Amino acid sequence: KQLIVDLDDRSYPIYIGEGILDQISTFFRKHQINDQSPLMIITDDNIAPLYLKKVIVSLQESGYKVCEYIVPAGESSKSLSVLEKITGVALDAGLDRKSSIVALGGGVVGDLAGFVAASFMRGIPFIQIPTTILAHDSSVGGKVAVNHPKAKNIIGAFHQPQMVLYDTSTLRTLPEREIKAGLSELIKHGLIWDAKFAEWNQLNAEKLLALDSESLEYALYNGCKIKAHVVSEDERENGLRAILNFGHTIGHALEAVSQYNKLLHGEAIAIGMVGAAKLSVHLGYPQRIYKETKSVMKKYGLPIQIPNHLNVDEIMEAMLHDKKFSEGQVVFTILKDIGEAHIQRGISIDLIREIVENLR
Ligand code: ADP
Ligand code: ZN
Repeated sequence: KQLIVDLDDRSYPIYIGEGILDQISTFFRKHQINDQSPLMIITDDNIAPLYLKKVIVSLQESGYKVCEYIVPAGESSKSLSVLEKITGVALDAGLDRKSSIVALGGGVVGDLAGFVAASFMRGIPFIQIPTTILAHDSSVGGKVAVNHPKAKNIIGAFHQPQMVLYDTSTLRTLPEREIKAGLSELIKHGLIWDAKFAEWNQLNAEKLLALDSESLEYALYNGCKIKAHVVSEDERENGLRAILNFGHTIGHALEAVSQYNKLLHGEAIAIGMVGAAKLSVHLGYPQRIYKETKSVMKKYGLPIQIPNHLNVDEIMEAMLHDKKFSEGQVVFTILKDIGEAHIQRGISIDLIREIVENLR
């Protein structure tokens, strides 16, 4: 399946399918990726033993010069010090303005490699090979970044990839918890934008959890399409794009306070979506919003309650101080119905607190 992400300044394709990794070089040739300058593949130490060799061999056999950089898996690799090291290796390997950076991995690798590509010589081409379900989300929108000890994703840029090559067969080696958590963001795309896709997600949980390739293709295609549509209407995040934050106001707060025994992003926003759905009902929208949101999370084995060890005061505190969601008042994405979202400001803190207290 192929999807074109169409943006103001340019557009790029996302290819989704089983076995794409076996034809990597065909896609590189088709899109005229430069073969005179060396390419750099960035990946992490979980993914490297599984897929790196295949990618390198395919590219080398087709005449590309390739170098690699393997980071330790995990968020801590999204740092300026890692960026500096990668830049050193890139210079030693002779990368130049016409070189491309290839991100082979999930969100961490995509964000890091994307920011390397955005900053190296003021920006070189970037190709994404996502290996997680969650990465469907970060492969659209062009947001790339590293973290600062004081704030996540605070040093970054907008840098669109040349193309995204999504091989669904790579998802089979994902840990089960990562699969479920990755599906959470896909479910979100249905809930905020497309009632039919939301219903499809309700009906196809078993198939998706079993990583049936046709179902995965369909779901990833739809998730990317919805995100692409929202982003192309609002590339720099002024209005519409904020609906993508459905579940993230409470979700981010939960991630922030669950330092130990950490919730995965997808798990935290699953709980956050249930909370935001409940809030929507409290604000007068149909009861089914809450019922359906809760039931879809259950079907996917995602958490729907705030873990008991997390403290409500701390959650509220984190929410009120989250720069992304507060401008003196907490900003929520509310569902008017399944498939229809809007932004609401100025919701009473007492009401939000009540919702959070009852999310246990
Ligand atoms: P995301 O933000 O997309 O969930 P991460 O980069 O945080 O992605 O990856 C989640 C975890 O899964 C990391 O430990 C990573 O090394 C691992 N991982 C990523 N892709 C695969 C894969 N296809 N098979 C096995 N493990 C993977
Ligand atoms: Zn998210």
